[in-house]
Amino acid sequence: MKTVTILGATGSIGQNTIDLIARRPETFRVVALTGGRNIAQLAEDAIRLRAEIAVTGFEAGLEELRDRLSGSGVEAAAGQAALNEAAARPVDWVMSAIVGFAGLEPGLSALRPGTTLALANKESLVCAGALLMGEAQAQGATILPVDSEHSAVFQALVGEDMEAVERIVITASGGAFRDWPEDRLAGATLAEASSHPNWDMGQRITIDSASLFNKAMELIETREFFRVSPEQIEVVIHPESLIHALVGFRDGALMAHVGPPDMRHAIGYALNWPERNDLPVERLDLVKIGQMTFRNADQARHPALRLAREVMEAGGLSGAVFNAAKESALDGFIAGRIGFLDMAQVVEEVLNRLSGDATGPGAMTLDAVREIDARARTQADAVMTGFAAR
Ligand code: NAD
Ligand code: MG
Repeated sequence: MKTVTILGATGSIGQNTIDLIARRPETFRVVALTGGRNIAQLAEDAIRLRAEIAVTGFEAGLEELRDRLSGSGVEAAAGQAALNEAAARPVDWVMSAIVGFAGLEPGLSALRPGTTLALANKESLVCAGALLMGEAQAQGATILPVDSEHSAVFQALVGEDMEAVERIVITASGGAFRDWPEDRLAGATLAEASSHPNWDMGQRITIDSASLFNKAMELIETREFFRVSPEQIEVVIHPESLIHALVGFRDGALMAHVGPPDMRHAIGYALNWPERNDLPVERLDLVKIGQMTFRNADQARHPALRLAREVMEAGGLSGAVFNAAKESALDGFIAGRIGFLDMAQVVEEVLNRLSGDATGPGAMTLDAVREIDARARTQADAVMTGFAAR
């Protein structure tokens, strides 16, 4: 039996993970499931999968969770400390799929000797890559990528020597607006930004795909995971989302990972690693597909990509500033406070304001990351208030 915990179980990645685990009850035993405000889903899954404990990140949900779990034998808990405690229960495998900065601490808590952390929460690598990777090494834990591009790179690197790697190419679908003329983007609505042409994902990452902020985050994620230099990482728009990433080697070979846009592949790879096992994903019919196309990811049209490159150059805590400003700007767009193109402007302005404080020397600590995260959110709020007065 492999023991597993799923952080963010009620979300898009969490539900896909549950789908795979529920198919093999003889192989997996669930210890903890965590969620946010969807208490009904959390309780239903916890009972069905016979979890030891179900935790909501929000204290206000505790009473309902207790009610729904009463008599089931599943323990109920709520709040940040309870999330961290549940994440720290010793298991073989943990899925980190909370969205946003909120996923960092539970992810860190999950790193224990021998545990494998399947990392979907890219935000934790962007804001605290050195901390997360350092803690994994110190604990003797393994981190596996779950983002489709990074899982693809990881798979292309099996058996290879990093010394032989020349470049890594991650692909981008281009998101909801890839075929829109640039002058329409300023007026893009929330509903328009919330629908993805190829992938079915949570709302926040779907909007980040339309703005290319998701790909910007993934540039930084690539650097943190694979320790290549920023110049070695390329982004190319690939509207079909069939090739997820390619690794280029010094002999000129390009190893591509090809598969349907279904996150159960990357989740399942991490779940079965180091082996491969059957997965319920579509088998591609190459003749039916006929062709795959690629376009330049223009940095003038996609300022998020330029900002990510600046962040990689700056290093230190600038990833934390970038992530927090991006999360705040996204909140602002969802709330109707700012327009679609304003998001990149907010992030750029916050990076400028905090640049002196984000790049100091010294080891990265959780307190320093938390502090600069909070400051970046305050600054983003002020910038957005300024925008509203325009
Ligand atoms: P989602 O919004 O569908 O689900 C997020 C989960 O986090 C839910 O369980 C929610 O209850 C929980 N959550 C949210 N705020 C919380 C808080 N403050 N405290 C505790 N729990 C909280 O998101 P998703 O699309 O599943 O994405 C999850 C993560 O995986 C993100 O980091 C995303 O970037 C990454 N990712 C997602 C996909 C995808 O296909 N959906 C692909 C690659 C990477
Ligand atoms: Mg991705």
